[in-house]
Amino acid sequence: MAMSKISKLLVLILIAAHEFIYAQQKAIFIILDGISADALEKVETPAIDAIAKAGGYTRAYTGGIRDAYNQSPTISAPGYNHVLTGVWSNKHNVWDNSIKEPNYHYWNIFRIAKHAKPDMKLAIFSTWQDNRTKLIGEGLEAAGNFKFDYAFDGFELDENQFPHDADKQYIFDIDENVSKEAARYIREHAPDLSWVYLEYTDDIGHRYGDSPEYEKAIQLADAQVGRIRDAVQIRQTQFGEDWMVVVTTDHGRDPQTGKGHGGQSDRERTVWIATNAKNLNGRFGQGTAAVDIMPSLLRHLKINPAEEIVRELDGVPFNGAIAVANASATLSDDGNKIELNWSVLEGNSKPEVFLSTTNNFKTGGKDNWQRMKNQSATPGRCTIDVSKYPSSFYKIVVKSRNNSINTQVLKNN
Ligand SMILES: [Zn+2]
Repeated sequence: MAMSKISKLLVLILIAAHEFIYAQQKAIFIILDGISADALEKVETPAIDAIAKAGGYTRAYTGGIRDAYNQSPTISAPGYNHVLTGVWSNKHNVWDNSIKEPNYHYWNIFRIAKHAKPDMKLAIFSTWQDNRTKLIGEGLEAAGNFKFDYAFDGFELDENQFPHDADKQYIFDIDENVSKEAARYIREHAPDLSWVYLEYTDDIGHRYGDSPEYEKAIQLADAQVGRIRDAVQIRQTQFGEDWMVVVTTDHGRDPQTGKGHGGQSDRERTVWIATNAKNLNGRFGQGTAAVDIMPSLLRHLKINPAEEIVRELDGVPFNGAIAVANASATLSDDGNKIELNWSVLEGNSKPEVFLSTTNNFKTGGKDNWQRMKNQSATPGRCTIDVSKYPSSFYKIVVKSRNNSINTQVLKNN
């Protein structure tokens, strides 16, 4: 009897230890369309607040770096794709909602996840089908013949079930449908990585601008987030899974009326991120960008993309250890020197600097990266002698032990 009790206890301890050590990492990101940070902060949003309370909330920027080579429009589809790919429009090549020629050489998070761990279960719940068929490029050879394990979308094309009305009530109904199914599916199946996209807030923003109607729409979206959060909480408590939740938006709104977006005003460029992640680092709340979400989710899922992908990522993880961020470079007039600057976020490691005069990655090829001497004694800056590599274009990577950042520089004429 005693032995059996002890062995039963042992088994229980082993199970608990196993769950503790091997708690399954899961992640979900939710994009609520077109909610300016000021509006979100003004309106009562208990579900988003609860997520942020477990981790954090910050404003962030979208649209690339203003006036730089990677400046990107504050438009929906480019905004989603910044989140999906961790790079700006100059790389993923989505400039508007027509998504004419996305550059699939810059892999999205789902493709990277499936490639790294083919057993991962991936899901999308979306009020806009183009997110799956065009941005992700599901089933397209050029996009890696990627396939979701579960997709719930396309209802905006079903005018029988969701007759279109001028007030866009049907979009709200689809958001309801999508968020309810996301909650059900997560509760029952817990996909490893999911994207939920809800649209109604942007439609109301376009129609009414800054208004009580818009604020009401934000509250309705928050309730939809709450539904999904409840499902995640059930998984966490009943199954001991380790979930990272990110809620964000794709762009802000124009400063005059709030009806439009697409430009480069602060208000249009300002987005926000709420997450339950507990291991936030110095990047969160300091220069945080929409492109940071993708590498942060990958980090939570313990996925390390291939080095050539990492070298291209414009985002920096806002969880876990990082050392460097915000690379920028200028080329001297004679073309012999590059002045390179970056932010030193943590630690005093001396990062490695790599240089390429080609951009073959953009067309699916390989670049010839040269390791350059970083002799600078000043943390966060160095001068690179490029006289041996004459070129009108340079890609530069600053690689620390914990993360890599990159920038580009073009010769003036
Ligand atoms: Zn949008």
